[in-house]
Amino acid sequence: MGSEPARAVGGSWFPPGSSRRVEAELSRASNGDLLVVANQAVLARSALADVDVSVRVGSIPRRLAFPDGSLFETPDNDGIDAATQGTGRAARAVDQLERFRPRLFVFAGVVVALCYLIYRFAVPLLVEVAVAVTPPIVPQLMSQGALASLDETLLSKSELTEARQAEIRQGFDEIAQVAPRGAAGFVLHFRKGGSIGPNAFALPDGSIVLTDELAELAPGTEAVLGVLAHEIGHVEREHSLRQLYRAAGVAALIMLIGGDIGSGAEDILVQGSALIALSYSREQEREADRYSVELMLKAGKDPAALIRFLELIRDRFEKGGGTDFFSTHPATQQRIDDVKRLAEELATAR
Ligand SMILES: [Zn+2]
Repeated sequence: MGSEPARAVGGSWFPPGSSRRVEAELSRASNGDLLVVANQAVLARSALADVDVSVRVGSIPRRLAFPDGSLFETPDNDGIDAATQGTGRAARAVDQLERFRPRLFVFAGVVVALCYLIYRFAVPLLVEVAVAVTPPIVPQLMSQGALASLDETLLSKSELTEARQAEIRQGFDEIAQVAPRGAAGFVLHFRKGGSIGPNAFALPDGSIVLTDELAELAPGTEAVLGVLAHEIGHVEREHSLRQLYRAAGVAALIMLIGGDIGSGAEDILVQGSALIALSYSREQEREADRYSVELMLKAGKDPAALIRFLELIRDRFEKGGGTDFFSTHPATQQRIDDVKRLAEELATAR
């Protein structure tokens, strides 16, 4: 067990490229080098790592190939094992680990590269296919489930006056009917946001939820419509369905690598709060902003209405932390400038 000093091992030494046999002994130098000695002359010397030691197979003599091309041969298997062991068991384990490490890195690298390729190319492709083949009943069921669970947990009945609701609904219908899905493709829901505060979000079936808090915060109905037009854009482009499938795809990918991921994927697919917690990509936000400008213009409304809302948010919240909606829809100057530029472009193009 452990670290008894290696004894000298008797055997034969062959000079490089020669079959001339020289009786010699193999031992370890004080620095750990392997030494082949005959009549007190050093015939070969090398660090253990540079010597190729043949594997032990029954009682077949072992061969040690030195970097200089010379060979040491011996039938003393135990002696060789002891002499090539480093200073003990731990050293050998480290030695084996060291030998394994390059292969391990290559393997890990291949796995990472493969996952990246799947994430980069296969997931987006599968997402597109999944969106294309999804029957309308699926987003309907998902959205109904999401809204029901949100109503149970976060949202409550709207306290906006009938008149205010009617005014917003009237404007909403006007912009919805110029969208490709038409007015029948969307349902506007008024809710009191409570802990989610000023917020507006779209569910994949075309349900759009507007909180009282957002309606009260916005500078006028037209600004609310600008936000709703942005949400219509998310629905028309099927952004939330895409994000949902993407999240499911990534979860499946994680499951593929790491085994069980618990109820994560199930949560994403079943729970309503998870559905709105999925954030859109920056690209999708830009697309929805653009959609808002175009739709508002098409409906004969102020295409820059969204800007007025964003500017208000920027001034009111950006400094002191925002709410859910604004963390997923940051009112950055960049975004405001982009919308402004687009609104001007489209207005002059008419
Ligand atoms: Zn958005």
